[in-house]
Amino acid sequence: CGIVGVLGQHEAAPILVEALKRLEYRGYDSAGIATVNNGTLDRRRAVGKLVNLSDLLVHDPLPGKSGIGHTRWATHGAPNANNAHPHQSGPVAVVHNGIIENYKELRAELAAYQITPETDTDSETIALLTHHYMKQGMTHVDAARKCLSRLEGAFALAFLFDGEDDLIVAARKGSPLAVGHGDGEMYVGSDAIALAPLTNRITYLEEGDCAILTRQTLDIFDESGTRVTRELREVSLDA
Ligand code: GLU
Repeated sequence: CGIVGVLGQHEAAPILVEALKRLEYRGYDSAGIATVNNGTLDRRRAVGKLVNLSDLLVHDPLPGKSGIGHTRWATHGAPNANNAHPHQSGPVAVVHNGIIENYKELRAELAAYQITPETDTDSETIALLTHHYMKQGMTHVDAARKCLSRLEGAFALAFLFDGEDDLIVAARKGSPLAVGHGDGEMYVGSDAIALAPLTNRITYLEEGDCAILTRQTLDIFDESGTRVTRELREVSLDA
């Protein structure tokens, strides 16, 4: 199970699949990616090995230079294509590793607004709740951060939004997450190895951090919402 993200200068789909391959060692049962292309969010998901996702992308390409990707190790909901990540609700797509312990309570809260899940996963609740906050008038970033403040459990996750070609929101609590700095590009991954062919300039997020990525900028907030700086390291990895 792993997550990756790219705000790039080139087509994102092959970069995301390649980065996910470097996380295969962790094990997984399904995989998926989402991109934003000319402002439009779309996704592709497949059960089984990454080659199945690659085959799907040959027949049904997913253009766009911004994207997120996921390999899933199912904890809530069977390993099928519908339960595979990215999960989407309206303009919000999310990839998540870990477990949202309070997803049933959050689902019940959303049910009062006639918001019903389309998957059996805990993770979809993150997209549904963030979308709900956006409908109440919050910006993408504020809605994502408000949602994060409601989540109990362990997670690494990344959001991508319809209409936003230059924005990924990423967060970690109980699972590692690394941000990679490129040349006019920004990446995120479960570990630096996933990003090794792309960059060796890495900022490791710390427990409870939320990162706002654009191609040129990285803003990090700690769990209390305070803006923080985290070291940019040059790591040596065998790409
Ligand atoms: N709990 C989530 C699911 O079952 C994420 C699993 C994972 O870490 O890949 O979909």
